[in-house]
Amino acid sequence: MTETHAGRRSELSFDHAQTLDLSDPLSGHRDSFLGSDDPDVVAYLDGNSLGRPLKASARRVAGFIAEQWGGRLIRGWDEGWLGLPAEIGNELGRVALGAAPGQITIGDSTTVMLYKLCRAAVAARPGRTEVVLDTDNFPTDRFILEGIAAERGLTLRWITPSFDGGVTAGDLAAVLSPRTALVVISQVAYRSGYLADVPALTELAHAAGALILWDLCHSVGVLPVELDAWGVDLAVGCTYKYLNGGPGSPAFGYVRAEHQGQLVQPIQGWLGSAEPFGMGDRYQAAAGIRAYTSGTPPVIGMLAMQDMIELIGSVGIAAVRNKSVGLTEYALALYDGVLAPLGVRLSSPRHPQERGGHLTVDHSSFRDVTAALWRRGVVPDFRNPEGIRLGLSPLSTSYAEVWLGMDAIRQEIS
Ligand SMILES: *Cc1c(COP(=O)(O)O)cnc(C)c1O
Repeated sequence: MTETHAGRRSELSFDHAQTLDLSDPLSGHRDSFLGSDDPDVVAYLDGNSLGRPLKASARRVAGFIAEQWGGRLIRGWDEGWLGLPAEIGNELGRVALGAAPGQITIGDSTTVMLYKLCRAAVAARPGRTEVVLDTDNFPTDRFILEGIAAERGLTLRWITPSFDGGVTAGDLAAVLSPRTALVVISQVAYRSGYLADVPALTELAHAAGALILWDLCHSVGVLPVELDAWGVDLAVGCTYKYLNGGPGSPAFGYVRAEHQGQLVQPIQGWLGSAEPFGMGDRYQAAAGIRAYTSGTPPVIGMLAMQDMIELIGSVGIAAVRNKSVGLTEYALALYDGVLAPLGVRLSSPRHPQERGGHLTVDHSSFRDVTAALWRRGVVPDFRNPEGIRLGLSPLSTSYAEVWLGMDAIRQEIS
């Protein structure tokens, strides 16, 4: 065996994964998550679909029920609960989204928040008849826009990205026109993991006179975002993926300060009105970001995300991104060394600058393989038509877990 062969081989060994964990400055945070020592979970590779709970969140939720809900009862609304959507929004904006205070609110599902902001955007571009979107965006995004197009008599202009890529500046430039009212794209594509060039695409949309909404579901909390500096008009995202808010935790919505008051959202509820407790005759929108809220904030659903936002804030989003790139580069090296020779295909970008926090690999056996993996405690996601998506949440995933997951896939297909 030549020396390079021996070197390659040792890089593919479990020992090497353990060496990477030892030199990872963030490895200690893994113990802060519940279940990280559960022997039944060999490798959790789906933290981008549902993040693990932090131990701090278990304490926060129990404490809230006992002390706040149980102790303060309805007085809690006056004592701070009503302010949580804006407060947590400000903190999220500071820690992970590059947004000055007063532009982010928490509430609704991503689906509903997306509807509200897209509907507000198309109404603000009267006379323009088209909405630009791509065939690879997450179903809810496509379905919401189909509904809005039907409701408002608009035409959908579809971009078809490459299977292992996403929407490029060239793709967008080709479909923009003076008819474009709104562009909706995910910063990180949910299947391929392609990382779009937000500042460049935002500038293109603006040059055509359109508004742009970025879906940040697969980017918030895993890589730096600069909404204010990039000139983004609108954004939405999940809090149960890399923000570990728990199943069904509410979404966030960003409305750039200069658009507030101009963009009118359609779900006019009492808590988005100027005087919620005036019990008035007619709706008048609140000033500022509160105009984009509708009903009672889901307070319990907003508890756990606060712990993850705090943790990301203390570590720094740049360090999170560094580890994320380390994890996906490592998964890619294992793919090249172990899975590619078995006929598995890569459906994600090779270059880390074009990639978010997950990778998708394809093989005709993967529907069955995924079921077998779940049974043995290796938990990735299956994505149509035949992809295994490896979601690597930087603060809760070890290099050893990546190795064990990839090795289990190898065993299942060979
Ligand atoms: C996960 C995800 C959603 C989920 O929407 P919900 O309303 O929370 O179910 C929406 N869009 C994208 C791009 C996603 O990845």
